[in-house]
Amino acid sequence: MANILVAGGAGFIGSHTVLALHEAGHHLVVLDNLSNGSSENLLFGELIVGDIRDGALLDRVITDHEIKAVIHFAASIEAGESVKDPMAFYANNVGGSLSLIESMVRNGVRSIVFSSTAAVYGQNEEAETLSEELPKKPINPYGHSKWMVECMLKDTAATGALDAISLRYFNAAGGDPEGRIGERHDPETHLIPLALDAARGARNEVKIFGTDYDTPDGTCIRDYIHVSDLADAHALALHQLLDRQDPSSGQTKAGYYDAFNLGTSRGHSVRDVMNTAKKVTGIDFPVIEDTRRPGDPARLVADATRAKSELKWSPDRSDLTTLMEDAWRFRRTLGN
Ligand code: UDP
Repeated sequence: MANILVAGGAGFIGSHTVLALHEAGHHLVVLDNLSNGSSENLLFGELIVGDIRDGALLDRVITDHEIKAVIHFAASIEAGESVKDPMAFYANNVGGSLSLIESMVRNGVRSIVFSSTAAVYGQNEEAETLSEELPKKPINPYGHSKWMVECMLKDTAATGALDAISLRYFNAAGGDPEGRIGERHDPETHLIPLALDAARGARNEVKIFGTDYDTPDGTCIRDYIHVSDLADAHALALHQLLDRQDPSSGQTKAGYYDAFNLGTSRGHSVRDVMNTAKKVTGIDFPVIEDTRRPGDPARLVADATRAKSELKWSPDRSDLTTLMEDAWRFRRTLGN
C-alpha cells in the first residue's frame, strides 16, 4: 500500500475518496486550503492546511511523506462564479495544477488521478449520451480550466515524465452510505441538497429552473452519480497507475494518459428528482416552476462504457432512490 497525496481532499468528492482509499489500506496525506472543504469531512488521513500554488510546500510534503501518487481535486467549482471572475479560476485551477504537476515531476512522483468534469463537453446536444472522444467545447471558464489541465497532463505524460488519468464526473450526489459524511456546500446551489433542505424545512421551497426544455417533461435531464461510486472509480484508476510503477508489471517507462466519463448512462429530469426526493423523505415539500437558469444544457448524460470495461468500474449505488436515501441520511442530521 502507498502514501497518497490527496490535493483538495477535504471537499465533497475528495473526502469520500479518502474514505475509500483508507479502506483500501493506503496512507493518506490531504493538502487543502479549506476554501471549500472542511476538516469535519475528513474521517481519516493527515490534514495539511495549505495551497497547491505553494511549490515549496508541495516539495516538502512530497518528500517528507514519501508520496507515491497524487489524486487532485483542488479547484474552484462554481461554473457561474467562473463567468464573473475568470482570472481567479485560471489562477487557482490552471495555476494550481501547473504548480502541482511541476512539483511531482521535480520530485519523481509518477502517478496522478485528476478530477475533471462533463463541463469539458459544453452544450453538445446532438449526442444522446456523451462519449470521451466527442469535441471539447466548454462554455464557461470553469470548463475551460479543467480542459486546460487535461491538456497539460496529456502533454506532460507524452514526455514520459508521468502517468495520468482524468475522470470526468457528471452530477455527483449522494453521501457515505453509513451517513458519516455527505454533501455540504456554502452557498448550496445543487438540486438534490436543495430539495432535501426543502423537505427538512431548512428552506421554504425548491425551484425548477425551466419547464420548456426539449425533453419529455420539459425539465433538464442529468446523469446523477453516487459519490461513493465516484470514490471507487478513483481507487480503481489509482491502482492501475500504481501497477504501472511496479517493475514486475511489464509496463514500459513511456507516459500513459487516458480520460474516462463517470456517470450511469441514465438520465433523470428535474421533476424525477423532485418526485424521488418526496418519496424517499415522505414529505410533500413545495416545488415552484421558475425560468431557465442561464448556461444550463437541456441534457447531460454520460456514455460510461469505457470506465466500466477498462477500469472495471460498476456504479452500484447510483440508482436514484438509493442515492437519495444516502443523501437524506446525512442531510437530515444538519442543523437549519
Ligand atoms: N436545478 C433546478 N433548481 C435548483 C437547482 C438546480 O431546477 O434549485 C436544475 C438545474 O437547472 C439543472 C439540474 O437541476 O438542470 C442540476 O443542477 P445542479 O446545479 O445540481 O448541477 P449542474 O447540472 O448545474 O452541474
